[in-house]
Amino acid sequence: MANSQDRETGSSPFLEVLKDLHSQYKSLQEGTVANYIPELAKVNPNLFSICIATVDGQIYEVGDYQQLFTIQSISKVFIYGQALEDHGRDYVLTRVGVEPTGDAFNAIILDEQSKRPYNPMVNAGAIATTSLIKGNGATERLNRLLEMYRRYIGRDVFVDISVFTSERSTGHRNRATAHLMLNFGMIDQNIEEALDLYFQQCSVMVNCRDLAVMAATLANKGVNPITKEKAVDSCYIKDILSVMYTCGMYNFAGEWAYKVGIPAKSGVSGGIIAVVPGQMGIGVFSPLLDGRANSVRGVKVCEELSQRLGLHLFECKGM
Ligand code: GLN
Repeated sequence: MANSQDRETGSSPFLEVLKDLHSQYKSLQEGTVANYIPELAKVNPNLFSICIATVDGQIYEVGDYQQLFTIQSISKVFIYGQALEDHGRDYVLTRVGVEPTGDAFNAIILDEQSKRPYNPMVNAGAIATTSLIKGNGATERLNRLLEMYRRYIGRDVFVDISVFTSERSTGHRNRATAHLMLNFGMIDQNIEEALDLYFQQCSVMVNCRDLAVMAATLANKGVNPITKEKAVDSCYIKDILSVMYTCGMYNFAGEWAYKVGIPAKSGVSGGIIAVVPGQMGIGVFSPLLDGRANSVRGVKVCEELSQRLGLHLFECKGM
């Protein structure tokens, strides 16, 4: 693998654990790459990287950590934060709920009573939060999102045009979901524009280190631990982490909360972020997915990392 190389910028037992997990799971070939977005089907299924970024700015990374891929649904976390900053908690709650669905990420369902999408971590809810992003026209809205990503990551990012156009021309399910929400008055701007912005936010290129730094920023009350720049208002961290904890892994969210016990979010390109509040952010990238669209190796790595490092939020430490 071209970029494979292990690296640390601090000293800690973390790197040894990461190397161990990488060599343990790199031969695991279960799962399939996402192919409903044609461009994603072209990925090398063997790519695999794990990265930890601590809140004091140490980075530990193994495998293909420089490999770029599209962020996909992991974007939903950060766009939710931006929508909260743009409108405040009360208004955003009128447009998207905070209940887990127990259904697939792309289920075309709304809450029967309120007609809101269930939560911002599934496609329906994410399209609704994207439609809330403020800006004078499509370009300004996109630029605000790119600027938001820059604060979390610490460098400029760009949209992969091939993935964006691939998803835009095949995203009929998302289009159907948007029409359903339009019918119930849950999104009120031009839906094609909202969908374009949603497909663009999903098509932003990141690497595994970026994921870890973004997660570490959430772990660090919204301040990027490398650049020290504030990425999101600290008052919204609890909202973001709560929905990640209950809804971030789709119809695996309950089992994840039980076994891994930390807020997380996955995406169909094979990324996972996990946040240990006050301590660290974890990023894993491996494109082979299970039936719930979560990275197979990513889930295994996080389960074991949580166990080995005692990361579960409800771990009875010292007992
Ligand atoms: N862009 C993808 C979609 O809307 C994101 C889904 C995901 O990563 N789970 O289908």
